[in-house]
Amino acid sequence: MSKNSKKLRIVLLGAPSSGKGTQAELLSQKLGLKHLASGDVFRQEVKKKSELGKAIEDYLKKGKLVPDELVNKVIISKIRKTKKGIILDGYPRDLTQAKFLEKNFPTDLVLEIKISNKEALKRITGRRVCSYCGAVYHLKYKPPKKKGICDICGHKLVQRDDDRRGIAEKRLKLYHQTIKPIIKFYKRKDKLFIINGEQSIKKVFQDILKIVLRKKDEKK
Ligand SMILES: [Zn+2]
Repeated sequence: MSKNSKKLRIVLLGAPSSGKGTQAELLSQKLGLKHLASGDVFRQEVKKKSELGKAIEDYLKKGKLVPDELVNKVIISKIRKTKKGIILDGYPRDLTQAKFLEKNFPTDLVLEIKISNKEALKRITGRRVCSYCGAVYHLKYKPPKKKGICDICGHKLVQRDDDRRGIAEKRLKLYHQTIKPIIKFYKRKDKLFIINGEQSIKKVFQDILKIVLRKKDEKK
């Protein structure tokens, strides 16, 4: 077996507020994998002012989705460059991207962190951010010491537009629409594992780790 085939490639899926980013970060630290979050990758390219970055910036400025072809190009070049195993977060975003990924860099595991819409809405609409330093709070799960005021800098806490109920509902609906075909695709390939995301961060991580370590052993 070539050395290359031992590198784990994991895709993390999950609705907004599922804790996907947090879990990707934990997993990357624990196993020394590279966490590739598509949003971060785009921002880096834009900042670098690379050819791809300039093209991406054009779409972002217009408030448009970056087209599949461009997304694929950017992400694949990142995958090629990294010598470690990877965790993909925010990619693939649709079926076209998933098929492209499987053709070029087949994944070992796809983990879906599942939470109900009710739980997602509770998490999203309770979120408050500091208008000054950007610290994130939650009315129920992580309230500030003084109501409406940031613990760190004393400025006012606000609700982001994206987190308001109407918009949050739309974001969730869009997520479920786009993720459905991806889930079906990976299920057919026998790569999909579902994680209960309505548990503590620690417990979710334990569940993820169990599946990932088993896969890692198989690859040895
Ligand atoms: Zn603050």
